[in-house]
Amino acid sequence: VTTLDIQQIRQDFPILDQQVNGRPLVYFDNAATNQKPRPVIDALTQYYEGYNANIHRGIHHLAEQATAAFEASRRAIQQFLNARHWEEIIFTYGTTDGINLVAQTYGRRFLGEGDEIIISTMEHHSNIVPWQMLCEERGCVLKVIPVDDNGELILEEYEKLLSARTKFVSCVHVSNSLGTINPVKTIIDMAHQVGAVVLIDGAQASSHIDLDVQALDADFYVFSAHKLYGPTGMGVLYGKKALLDAMPPYRGGGEMIKEVTFAKTTYNEIPYKFEAGTPNIADVIAVKTALEYMAGLGKENIAAHEHELLQYATEQLSELDGLRIIGQAKEKIGVVSWVMDGIHHQDTGVILDQQGIAVRTGHHCTQPLMQRFGIAGTTRASFAVYNTKDEVDRLIVGLRRVQKMML
Ligand code: PMP
Repeated sequence: VTTLDIQQIRQDFPILDQQVNGRPLVYFDNAATNQKPRPVIDALTQYYEGYNANIHRGIHHLAEQATAAFEASRRAIQQFLNARHWEEIIFTYGTTDGINLVAQTYGRRFLGEGDEIIISTMEHHSNIVPWQMLCEERGCVLKVIPVDDNGELILEEYEKLLSARTKFVSCVHVSNSLGTINPVKTIIDMAHQVGAVVLIDGAQASSHIDLDVQALDADFYVFSAHKLYGPTGMGVLYGKKALLDAMPPYRGGGEMIKEVTFAKTTYNEIPYKFEAGTPNIADVIAVKTALEYMAGLGKENIAAHEHELLQYATEQLSELDGLRIIGQAKEKIGVVSWVMDGIHHQDTGVILDQQGIAVRTGHHCTQPLMQRFGIAGTTRASFAVYNTKDEVDRLIVGLRRVQKMML
């Protein structure tokens, strides 16, 4: 039972207070991006109104203030992930950017002909394509962990894929399409036993699950701020110090150098080695506010509330004729995906939108997973802390209307 006052929390999110197509907005597209509470929006404004300046290189007051706030965010994220060293926190543009960074630097330096990279069937395209690009360039081989009918990874099959040839494993913590929470600790331990390095895509985990990269022993962990009540265009790559130190830089430019001459350039230390150019200063600063906001509510309380919504929605959806839920893993976050007999998901999305209900439809950037289930796509509702059971009821009424109109 949730201890949070959800109606009070809703007041923190200005965007929720609006009508869409004449109905109060129901926002169930949180896995794509969740909404921003007032303190996060204020942090952005305060930066631009009060101390906008470029960081690290200035000696004037505003530059020092901006730099301090920027670096304070790095420490906050270090704590959030329980990373051992602050230098292990690299700011990126998001999950996609973090994975590409690792593929393009670690991958190109350390992976070669015949080396095997393991991903899973439920990866987001952003954790498939960068590895395919690397394989094409370096002659590595991509292997894929299958999923069962419930949407869980088949660990016995994963074990069979692992060998001395396995050099890298890149796996999603929580599936954005199905909500499945993967046993990442086990996945990492199994990979380490054959000496492979592991990246975990935490895009969907970061706002729902307590993270501890040391306990997990993750080599790399990536996420996006915009999925944890923070701004868009900002993300984090965590990497173990020894690995980051050994990796060549990603992009060249200002900030990432020690000394530049036309004869030779020497590179800066981590994390700056990977942070060329002016970063998203305001967004980085506001992430700290987002983390504080989540911590204030208590991540376990948020998770408990979302779990209640998931259970309720799953029960209610199951009562609709011809509706099949895709992904029935034992461990799930608040994401529910379904298909309905005789109705295309796109029609579902349009008719729900007419009733002010925002869901996501399609393949959710996981086409191979959709192929695994023999479907073109699903309709997906994904929950955040501000959602309510009444909104789930609105969804069910909405879906009955979809069936009435389409069948
Ligand atoms: N991985 C997963 C599991 C995701 O859900 C997403 C976002 N939908 C991404 C990666 C990519 O994140 P971003 O678009 O923020 O880079």
